[in-house]
Amino acid sequence: MIRLTVVGAKGRMGTAVLERARSAGGWEIVGAVDRGDPLEPALRRSDVIIDFSEHGFSAELAEASAEAGKALVIGTTGHLAEEGLRVRRAAAKIPIVWAPNFSTGVNLLFYLVRKAAAVLGEEFDPEIVEAHHRGKRDAPSGTARRLAEIVAEMRGVPLEKAARYGRQGEPGPREAGEIGIHAIRAGGIVGVHTVLFAGRGEILELTHRAESRDTFALGSLRAARWVVGKPPGIYSMEDVLGLAGG
Ligand code: NAD
Repeated sequence: MIRLTVVGAKGRMGTAVLERARSAGGWEIVGAVDRGDPLEPALRRSDVIIDFSEHGFSAELAEASAEAGKALVIGTTGHLAEEGLRVRRAAAKIPIVWAPNFSTGVNLLFYLVRKAAAVLGEEFDPEIVEAHHRGKRDAPSGTARRLAEIVAEMRGVPLEKAARYGRQGEPGPREAGEIGIHAIRAGGIVGVHTVLFAGRGEILELTHRAESRDTFALGSLRAARWVVGKPPGIYSMEDVLGLAGG
């Protein structure tokens, strides 16, 4: 049995993770922590913590997990640079899986986009479109940001130089090297990501649709099982799935 604490336990994702862990077996839920609940006693009892709270709390949680010497899986998105640095510092002491998206399909999409960007090169214009439910707080999604980072990495440019977040007014013709990123917020959409490469006379579109939160919940549990006992460091879901470095 792996002893698990879920942080953000009353939220959309926290609830899904707890349900999946209870029905999967092999998990002892020793903590279901939400805003205002004591964290330390749950951390002490745990082998691993899954975080689906909010980005502003993840750095503090990473520091507390490092202090307690417990493995951590971070699912929150939208971290500020300073929060990201604190998470990385905590990873000197504990193993952390940090992933903007735990679905198997999206992690395969990361891999496929890397391949597509390498083959298609600068002749094809990349645009990323994501759609999420009306309750989502950050935009663009962490997944869209990661997809854009992958394209930028393959082109050898810093993302912030190439990124073009939405267009309005009179932006003029598309600049060479732009990576367009667009966010739709509507209804109850669980998560849709499309990476489009448009070249001369042809368009390649790679789309992933998450149909339920179960895919993220099951992926985070897979990451939690994998990360227990790993050496300190930051790991991605591609590491968990064995897709890294491909
Ligand atoms: P939500 O608003 O439904 O739930 C967040 C929960 O965290 C709430 O119950 C809130 O009370 C709790 N919380 C906030 N601050 C806290 C704190 N300091 N301590 C303890 N609990 C705290 O949000 P959600 O839709 O479940 O999403 C949660 C996060 O996960 C978001 O950042 C979202 O973008 C991300 N997300 C990631 C994935 C993935 O695959 N990595 C998938 C879906 C959502």
